[in-house]
Amino acid sequence: MVPGSKRPLVAISSCLLGENVRYDGRHKRDPCIAQYLSTHVDWKPVCPEVGAGLGVPRPAIQLVGTEERPAALGVENSSLEVTEALLEYAQRMLPELRDVNGYVFKSRSPSCGLVDTPLFDSSGQELAQTAGLFARVIVAALPALPVIDEQQLHDTQRRARFLQQVQACWQQQKSAGS
Ligand code: SF4
Repeated sequence: MVPGSKRPLVAISSCLLGENVRYDGRHKRDPCIAQYLSTHVDWKPVCPEVGAGLGVPRPAIQLVGTEERPAALGVENSSLEVTEALLEYAQRMLPELRDVNGYVFKSRSPSCGLVDTPLFDSSGQELAQTAGLFARVIVAALPALPVIDEQQLHDTQRRARFLQQVQACWQQQKSAGS
């Protein structure tokens, strides 16, 4: 919660707000977010790959392995591994994220994806869809936090339900602090 703010605080994958933090130095601004959510919440932008020190631009990564233990490896060079860097950053961010009232994640990202990030075997065959490394730590550690990804946000009912959950989380936080 931003002190004195009249709106909930929601964390978001910062590329969705238009920040040029992707591996290729570009963004993935989503007009739905600006149109429907920016009038209701204050944002806390987070880019785990930049936060973990991977830089911009940087080599693209992908998830390789099993659903229980995926690794984040370079797409072009599989000897590049950033699994520990992303997991450590997620642990470092947990104290800051305990105060937010929701989280909007970027779908299909090896770091931020909630449910639909491709998981490959070592030969490049897609095995399944799963959560990104950063998102899975946050969701496991903060099970009551309302979460959604930008694909799910395009569904009117899911978006409305997410906003209700965010508002409820915010009210609860205010009551606990008063
Ligand atoms: S790590 Fe997350 S916030 Fe950063 S560019 Fe990738 S999807 Fe966007």
